[in-house]
Amino acid sequence: MSDSQQPQVLDGLGVSPGVAIGRAVCIENEALEVYRFPLPADSVEPEIDRLREATQRARSEILATRARAEEELGSELAAIFDAQALLLSDTALLSRVETRVRNERVNAEWAVHKEADELTRQFEELDDEHFSTRSDDLRDVVRHLLRALQGVAHHDLAEMGEQVIIVAHDLTPSEAVRLVRQHVVAFALETGGQTSHTAIIARDLNIPLASGLTGVTRLVTDDDPVIVDGSAGRVILHPSSAQLDEYSLRRTAIDKRESEMLAMQLLPAVTRDGIAIDLMANIDLNEEIVDAKRFGAAGVGLYRSEFLYIERSPNLPSEEDHFKTYRHLVDEMAPHPVVIRTYDLGGRKLARDVMDTEEENPVLGLRGIRLTLARPQIFRTQLRALYRAAVDRDLWILLPMISNLDEVRQFKAFAAKIQAEMLRDGAEFNPDCKLGVMIEVPSAAMIADLLATEVDFLSIGTNDLIQYSLAVDRNNEHVSYLYRPLHPAILRMLKFVLQSARTAGIDVSMCGEMASDPLYSPVLLGMGLRSLSVTSRAIPELKSQIRQLSMSELESVADECLSLSTAAQVEAYLEEFLEDKSVTEQSAR
Ligand code: PEP
Ligand code: MG
Repeated sequence: MSDSQQPQVLDGLGVSPGVAIGRAVCIENEALEVYRFPLPADSVEPEIDRLREATQRARSEILATRARAEEELGSELAAIFDAQALLLSDTALLSRVETRVRNERVNAEWAVHKEADELTRQFEELDDEHFSTRSDDLRDVVRHLLRALQGVAHHDLAEMGEQVIIVAHDLTPSEAVRLVRQHVVAFALETGGQTSHTAIIARDLNIPLASGLTGVTRLVTDDDPVIVDGSAGRVILHPSSAQLDEYSLRRTAIDKRESEMLAMQLLPAVTRDGIAIDLMANIDLNEEIVDAKRFGAAGVGLYRSEFLYIERSPNLPSEEDHFKTYRHLVDEMAPHPVVIRTYDLGGRKLARDVMDTEEENPVLGLRGIRLTLARPQIFRTQLRALYRAAVDRDLWILLPMISNLDEVRQFKAFAAKIQAEMLRDGAEFNPDCKLGVMIEVPSAAMIADLLATEVDFLSIGTNDLIQYSLAVDRNNEHVSYLYRPLHPAILRMLKFVLQSARTAGIDVSMCGEMASDPLYSPVLLGMGLRSLSVTSRAIPELKSQIRQLSMSELESVADECLSLSTAAQVEAYLEEFLEDKSVTEQSAR
């Protein structure tokens, strides 16, 4: 695949490890994925049928929104949607799109995107307020139409017959999920931090990702040969044949190491002095269950149920959808426990159309438990399914983004109402699921002792806890150097949370990404943590490390870490500690 152009190396952040070699597909539109696919002659008319079907669907959706708006906001405001529905009945717009599909023999998405650009430009040139409103309407309509097209037997990147590497400015978690399902092999992004949800998805699905690659979208064009090294955060455009050989070898070495590590699956996660550690899996999508079992997870410590909503957006999952998904999960993982977190939509995981919220600062807005409690009808569906799926199974319920005691109490009151209703209906359900809260907001960490008396377990979400405590956006590559899990403020909070759980005699686990990094385990275990929930692929490495550590020495390691004043000092201390260990290990052999 090497070509005549000179290689070009770009360095950014290594976010999801691994090496991929493929061809670039650039995502032009930051908000929606629109690709250009050439069509064979006999596919043109079926493509027009697809476009017409999608138009009908988009129109029905807009009319349904109009009906809802009329009910809730009155007919005057609902009329806004008339203009949008009209645009879709407007044969002028559609016939322009159809003509483009026929003349250029391209997919409908591309034709819609190009026509919309053209029309928006014309509206804007008119410099008239009426037309600028029209161009807002047009943007909205196009969004609906593109979404509808994606639901009507849409084209798949797998059709390209190449290993596809997505080059984009930014990707939302839902876009990442959709792309991974289309056999994309790597991502190269301009923006994004190490614990963004897109990063987590990439790691969980074993897709190399490099971010912080300023200018990459300008430098790369579709079909360029590209190498992504997700460990180093490096992207090589137009690689030479020597570079291609070098990275192919690296990829083989990574695969080999992975199969060696798989042997760890059969060994227990126990320290040298016999202390057992639970290594559980974080799961976002059901296809990850296979890896959780393959890498020997002792249960699921965090199931992010919001992805069920994101995947079905713009529709809401039904009670049956929830039930089937959860039941499958608990059945597959039995006899191990499964912790299902109620939906944590909001922040960047906002399925905006589902939740009807638009916020200036969504990370501090109506997200997590706040959104759940504010939408009782939607939450009712999920909760009923959870209690049903828990029959004869070890299913634990976890609440996200708790920041005070009242939210826990409100949840309990709501849950009691739902259970009374289920009892009345004669539904088969298990009311005795363990209840836990995420400790991911600094206020929750600081009242962990109070929360611990209200619930059965705590789960520490360091991704958000670090973001909120250190005021560092987890999605922002410009401040990722400040995102330091070993910051003394974080270590002090963790110590307090672990002590609070111990005093109350309840379980405590860590499900944030901090738990996945073997560098941090000595201090975490030394402070008393006995349960880690991590991306499945991290389990063998952690297990191998745990088997080399002795708990008797870790308490003093933790004390030493807590006495240091900066993250850099703690990091250096832990590196040295692990380095000494491996030297001692080797000389003992
Ligand atoms: C966390 O914040 O650490 C966490 C596990 O939740 P999420 O990554 O889904 O925000
Ligand atoms: Mg979180």
